[in-house]
Amino acid sequence: MTIPYTHHFSTRITPQSEPIPGSKQICNSAGGYCFSVDDWTRLDRFLILGSEGGSYYATERTLTVQNAEAVRRCVAADGPRTVARIAVVSEAGRAPNNDPAVFALALAAGMGDAATRSAALAAVPRVCRTGTHLFGFVQASEGFRGWGRGLKRAVGAWYADREPRELAYQLAKYQQRGGWSHRDLLRLCHVKLTGPANAAAQWAVGKGGLPGLETLATSDPLALLAAFEAANRAATAADIVRLIHEHGLVRECIPTRWLTDATVWDALLEKMPLGAMVRNLATMTRVGLLAPRGDAVERVVAALGDHERLRRSRLHPVSLLVALRTYASGRGVRGAGVWNPVPEVLNALDAAFYAAFAHVEPTRKRWLLALDVSGSMAGSMVAGVPNLSAREASAAMALVTAATEPAHHIIGFTGYGHGANGAATLPISPGHRLDAVTQMVGGLPMGPTDCALPMLYALERELAVDVFVVYTDSETWHGAVHPVQALRQYRERTGIAAKLVVMGMVSNEFTLADPDDAGMLDVVGFDTAVPQLLGQFASQDDLGDRTGLTF
Ligand code: CA
Repeated sequence: MTIPYTHHFSTRITPQSEPIPGSKQICNSAGGYCFSVDDWTRLDRFLILGSEGGSYYATERTLTVQNAEAVRRCVAADGPRTVARIAVVSEAGRAPNNDPAVFALALAAGMGDAATRSAALAAVPRVCRTGTHLFGFVQASEGFRGWGRGLKRAVGAWYADREPRELAYQLAKYQQRGGWSHRDLLRLCHVKLTGPANAAAQWAVGKGGLPGLETLATSDPLALLAAFEAANRAATAADIVRLIHEHGLVRECIPTRWLTDATVWDALLEKMPLGAMVRNLATMTRVGLLAPRGDAVERVVAALGDHERLRRSRLHPVSLLVALRTYASGRGVRGAGVWNPVPEVLNALDAAFYAAFAHVEPTRKRWLLALDVSGSMAGSMVAGVPNLSAREASAAMALVTAATEPAHHIIGFTGYGHGANGAATLPISPGHRLDAVTQMVGGLPMGPTDCALPMLYALERELAVDVFVVYTDSETWHGAVHPVQALRQYRERTGIAAKLVVMGMVSNEFTLADPDDAGMLDVVGFDTAVPQLLGQFASQDDLGDRTGLTF
């Protein structure tokens, strides 16, 4: 009798509860073995997905500490490269939330060597584009350093480099956050300003009055601040409407008592930035401004359909998805507010979600888009967005590729629960509205995680697949074979040099992708560059010697 040695020790079939012999696999939070991403991928995951809200396996604090450690290692390995990456991701609007970039930049400015610190401080205007970002940067910096000359100079430059009109806008719109205000920063940084910029700054620190509004031309930078003061004294909604029309006051400058008035919102809507528009759709509906077939609805639909404006606004797809889900629900997340969603607005938000990703030409490859719908994916948040789980978000992400690539097949998989094999086709397509799709996926039964199932599913059904995309947290543990081994089986049996993309939906260090296999790629879920990254990767024909076909 022979002992089945290879049953116990094989590089081709290994249970996920053990590492593949000779590989660099590590144990994940679920007790299974997978690969780890390098610190640069980890940096991208943190910048795009953040750690707010934690994950199914880690508290917000633990996840933040782990991510910050990875950022620190990047800073130590190559500080200027780290700063450049932070600035690029932030500036291109690739992340749903700018806070992780602001935090990482403060870390680099505090913990880097001299060259890194000066690169980080020089990048402040690129990463901190609004007063709110700047307050966040100063707050985070205090965790790493004191108020040295470099920090004072960087904050001073943020004010000094602004056109007076833009400076006035920042002073009026973003008054304070996290205990910091322009008054504090202007006092601390001792920046020397001249002319109207100096008058605006003096006003902000409470040292200078403003000329009367009637004495100022509307083009005068100080007119915006005088109008802001006039709004505080306004006696009627008509006064507010006139100030908005003449001076371009934004919602943050309007006293709360006027924000229940439809005529005020009608005036605000005219020049409202897109981000503010999608955040205020419910309010504008509740006050009666947005009503079916109304003129204001037409303006909102036109604004959301203007792709050039959408691109310039840096409005992130996640913001649109969240706005769509909240608006469609007809009730506020926090409070008692209710409204009747206008269908045209819902459809416009749905279309804008797809348009907010970079446009790409289809590769015409055969795609299997596989959603990990296991329990942990329902227990992890994306970018700290309340009520949006990683499994719901991954459905929306899959539809972005489905909308571009005609040859696609979408499945959901979990260790058991639906389908004999734990994987089943999902009846979703870009023709369905995203709020309905995410709700449907959110309601699927859940079970243990086996990320080899997409490849086993394709083998069993004899599906021809060029690219497997697995949307997951890589906390895989429940399979008789590792995902990379299943992929190699698939390549061998079909002769297709199939590729695997791991769409990381949680900012942890885990991945299914073998870093030594050029046919596997890590991408961060909800990076707006996902369509380009997938397209380029899928189109590369030459995988060199590292396809895993020769072992
Ligand atoms: Ca799981």
